[in-house]
Amino acid sequence: MAGRNHLFIPGPTNTPHEVLSAMHLPMEDHRSPIFPDLFKPILADLKKIFRTETGQCFVFPATGTAGWEVALTNCLNPGDKVLIYRFGQFSHLWIEMAKRLGFTVEFHEVEWGKGIPLDDLEARLKADTGHEIKAVLATHNETSTGVTSDIGGVRKALDAANHPALLFVDGVSSIASIEFRHDDWGVDAAISGSQKGFMLPAGAAILAFSQKALAAASTSTYPRAFLSLQDQINTNKDGYTPYTPSTPMLHGLRKSLELLLAEGIDNIYARHHRLAEGVRRAVAAWGLEICAQPGFESDTVTAIVVPADKDAREVISIAFKKYNISLGAGLSEVSGKVFRIGHIGDMNDVSLLGAIAGVEMALLDSGIAIQPGSGVGAALEYYRATA
Ligand SMILES: *Cc1c(COP(=O)(O)O)cnc(C)c1O
Repeated sequence: MAGRNHLFIPGPTNTPHEVLSAMHLPMEDHRSPIFPDLFKPILADLKKIFRTETGQCFVFPATGTAGWEVALTNCLNPGDKVLIYRFGQFSHLWIEMAKRLGFTVEFHEVEWGKGIPLDDLEARLKADTGHEIKAVLATHNETSTGVTSDIGGVRKALDAANHPALLFVDGVSSIASIEFRHDDWGVDAAISGSQKGFMLPAGAAILAFSQKALAAASTSTYPRAFLSLQDQINTNKDGYTPYTPSTPMLHGLRKSLELLLAEGIDNIYARHHRLAEGVRRAVAAWGLEICAQPGFESDTVTAIVVPADKDAREVISIAFKKYNISLGAGLSEVSGKVFRIGHIGDMNDVSLLGAIAGVEMALLDSGIAIQPGSGVGAALEYYRATA
């Protein structure tokens, strides 16, 4: 099909031309004396994206999922208890991983569409007077439902309970896109991946750890090998890696950091908010609902609920086959009930208006009664008024 297939999925996201060009280069010697000139500044600049001065950043040649495993296996001891809420596919998968790795998982169900219930969390932490909970696992942006939780609020709950548990945050679809403050929120392990806000191909787990987490890692007895933080620490200090890094990925990351820092982290948050708000207005104009409950709306991905007698998979299939755009599918419990528009990464008003127009056509083709142009009209008026 002529024209471009644009990604309106919440990862992998569209990779900017400058980043693609920066990655297209011959392989190089990762043990050369000049390799640290590339790698050390990347590790330093990542701290600005995570907003940490006291923490340390890491890049593993893996994906976000491995980042969960790095946090669990490096900072905890075998069998340790972790507390987590399940309200979507990614929090679900993190629970499953922690169980498989032999941790004691205390998890609580939350209605899909909502996020971490802060009052409940605070009460549970206060009740844990013996401090058996060693870590709270928080999914910042639940990509499957388009729900953002209040991580600053999670920190407040920990502090209100005077609880020493570590705070691990899955920020795979939030970091580098929506507000994330590693130091201010007292995050101990922040987990991200390359293919979302960082606008790169999949293949890097991008992480930040607090000094408290690193101290825990230095005494933890959980077995780990490839995903060892200590092996990274030992080699990263001289600007090298414990095994062969993906050098094209690092050059791409160098360029994406340049783009992100040139735009400015606060401007990036504001842009994502504005783009997301236009999508929400379009959905309201169609007369449809979003999965996220008020107060939990994500600025990187919106999950849109189709009428009960319709199948969201058909909308996604028509959008791809007939109009050449990729939308996110509903996962597990919301499969067929929602489709998702990813508005994360390299995105602007006009690109997103293309997505909204494509969605309108696919909705109409699926027999969902919306007014043609209503969503596009609502979004473009909002974008014009706030440009
Ligand atoms: C994409 C995503 C993951 C999984 O990351 P992979 O890179 O696919 O391993 C984990 N958590 C969230 C919130 C995500 O959006």
